[in-house]
Order: sequence, then structure tokens, then C-alpha cells
Amino acid sequence: MDESTLRVDRCDVVVVGAGIVGAAIAARLARQGLQVAVLEAQQVAGGATGRSAGMVLTGMPGHYRWAVRTFGREQARAIWSLSVEGREHLAETAARLGVPLERSGSWALAVTQEEAEALQESAELLREDNFAVGFRTADPLQRGFLSALHYPDDGVVDAADMARALLSSAPIAVHTGTEVQALEMEGEDVRVWAHRRTVRCSAVVLAVDGYAPILEPSLSRWVSLGQALVVTAEGTGSSLPSPCYADYGYEYVRPLPDGRLLLGAWRYPRQSPPSDAPDPDEALREGLSRFARRYFPEVEGHIVQRRTGTIGCTADGLPVVGVLPHLLGVYFALGLGGWGLCWAFVAAERVVEMMLEGAPAGLLAAERLTV
Ligand SMILES: Cc1cc2nc3c(=O)[nH]c(=O)nc-3n(C[C@H](O)[C@H](O)[C@H](O)COP(=O)(O)OP(=O)(O)OC[C@H]3O[C@@H](n4cnc5c(N)ncnc54)[C@H](O)[C@@H]3O)c2cc1C
Repeated sequence: MDESTLRVDRCDVVVVGAGIVGAAIAARLARQGLQVAVLEAQQVAGGATGRSAGMVLTGMPGHYRWAVRTFGREQARAIWSLSVEGREHLAETAARLGVPLERSGSWALAVTQEEAEALQESAELLREDNFAVGFRTADPLQRGFLSALHYPDDGVVDAADMARALLSSAPIAVHTGTEVQALEMEGEDVRVWAHRRTVRCSAVVLAVDGYAPILEPSLSRWVSLGQALVVTAEGTGSSLPSPCYADYGYEYVRPLPDGRLLLGAWRYPRQSPPSDAPDPDEALREGLSRFARRYFPEVEGHIVQRRTGTIGCTADGLPVVGVLPHLLGVYFALGLGGWGLCWAFVAAERVVEMMLEGAPAGLLAAERLTV
């Protein structure tokens, strides 16, 4: 390391990662009057946040029937309620910071008979549990989908703008191009070793999502790597009412305000090292091509942009919040998955409450994944 460029600083909390989660955590802590530094390896929103399709979707992939069968009715209801809380927190914050969030609603679309039944049953269960949804046996897009579930309160937002606005909303020292390489206890404090910088602080929050196991290998027991792909098509003349997702949420399409169409897919876990290379996994690319050929054939030959990104995934699909057992001042909010936008503020709030008040992380607690 070049000692002449090594800067030693002191602050209350270091947040590692300037995606939407790190930005929400930093803003919340700074508003409490704490001295906060954000260390980001790339630029603000340089990870999944800046690559996201911007759809703010209620719940989690798999539809409500799957959640009820997997977690039980009461816990599924609690999970959906939390996601609604996260969606509304994001919407209120966007309004306060002047970031446009369009309440476009969203459609979940069935690609198989089995999924059509899952959607119908999910709609009934959601209504019984007082969530706002609509259901149609006919395809609202008239493209061969078998049924459709409507979430009227979902929306779209520019997640990168949101992260930037959060970081500008309070006195926060943001250091980009500053990859954190190691963490160690120094008395009761934590010493953060980063590229050309070292910081001593009372606590650290890791908000690095899919990159977590690279920075701290022990986190691989909770977070594995997933990959997402988004392509943009222009000049197709297609018009859609709002974001739509299909195949249990793993493929989606969204109209952009300028008339282009954005199509995307994601999968997890991925065994090989993460990559933001322009060429994603063959399987992911093939899956999205099949989806596009079948339901949006007009995009063929019109793809003008392609971007991929790394996402962090947990075994049950919910984010994970906790503190490292061997570094007690190091907290984490990770595993946001492919639907991370509505969960970002939930994870951020939980980790801040845990750090400041010792509050339990509830449904997001890491312990749930180790039993
Ligand atoms: C292509 C794509 C499309 C998506 N579309 C949607 C969507 O439409 N709706 C939705 O809800 N979700 C979507 N997602 C998922 C969503 O974007 C993520 O769940 C969310 O952005 C995660 O936010 P984060 O802040 O936890 O992580 P990130 O945004 O990944 O931020 C983590 C940051 O940590 C930094 N970092 C990593 N390691 C270090 C280190 N050692 N030192 C310093 N910094 C480090 C990274 O550079 C990165 O900026 C999409 C994801 C991708 C990739």
C-alpha cells in the first residue's frame, strides 16, 4: 500500500456499499446525529441498484400461495405486510426527496396452467388477508398469458436516483472508488481497511448485497450469489399498461417513459464468482430469449442495450439482517434478491434499530437461516 495516500479517519459508523440499502441506512443514521461515512468500491449505485429495472413490487417472488405453503398463513401475511411497509416507506421517502415514483400498479402473469391456478388461489388468499389485489382469468396484454393478478399500489422508480438523493439528504461523507478489504476489532472499535484509506469507528454496516461473501467469507452461509439480466428494446411500437412479471417473478417486462421496452430475468444461486460482464450466464440469457420469443417477438432485432448485475440471495428469499458473531461491531443488511426495492427500507430500518436499540431483526433475523 502507498503510505503517502493512506488517510486515517474516525467516525461513528462506516456503511460499506452505496446502493439503495447502504444509502437508506446512512441517511437514517446521519439524521440521528451520528457521524457517518459511506465507503463504496465503485460509484454511488454502482451495483444492483444502478442496474435495476426500477419495479417496486409487493411481496416476494413465488406468489402468495407459495408463501402461505412455505411459511404458513400467519407468517406469509406478516411477510406481505412488511413488504407493503417497505413499499410505502420508499414511496414516502421518494416524495420527501423529490424523486418521482409512479404508482403504475403491476401485473403478475401466468405462463403455465399450474401458475394460473397459483395466481387465482393467491388472489383469494390475499383478499381474505385484506391486501389490495385484482384478478383476471383473461390476459390483459392479449399475448397468451393464462391469468393475471394485479397489484394496484406497486410502482416504478429510478433506484439510482433514490440512492443519490438519500446520500445528499443528510451530512454523510461518501467515498467512492474505495473498496473495503478487511475489518478488525481494535479495542471496542472496528478498524476498517479500505483502498487508500483506513477508518476507525464504533460500528460498521455491510450493505454490499451479493458481494458479501467476497468481503467476508463467513457470510456465504447466509448469502449466495444470484445474477440478473436486463435488456432494452427500442422501436418496437409495443405499449404496455405497467410493469408485468411472469414465471413466478423470474421474468419481467416494463414499458419505459420514452417508449422503449425493458425485459429482464434473474436466477439464483450462482456458483461461479460474480460478474458484471456484458455477457451473463448462458442459462439466464437463454431463459430471457425464450420468454421474449414467445410473448414479445417484436423485440427481436431491436435490443439496443444489455446490462447484468450481481444480487445477493438467501435460502428463503427474504433479506437477512444481523451482526457478525466474531466481529461484534459489524452489522449487515444483505440478500435483497431480485425484488430488493420494496425490501430495501425494511432491511435498513431493521439493522439501524438493531444497532441503536438492540432490537431484534424479527422475520429478517439471520438465526432463522441457521436452525
Ligand atoms: C439487472 C437487475 C435488475 C433488477 N431489477 C429490479 C427491479 O425491477 N425491482 C426490484 O425490486 N429489484 C430489482 N433488482 C434487485 C435490486 O436492484 C437489488 O435487490 C437492490 O438494488 C439491492 O440493493 P443493495 O443496496 O443491497 O445492493 P447494491 O445496489 O448491489 O449495492 C451494494 C454496493 O456495495 C458495493 N460494494 C461491494 N463490495 C464492496 C466493498 N468491499 N467495499 C466497498 N463497496 C463495496 C458495490 O459496489 C455496490 O455499489 C434488480 C437487480 C439487477 C442486477
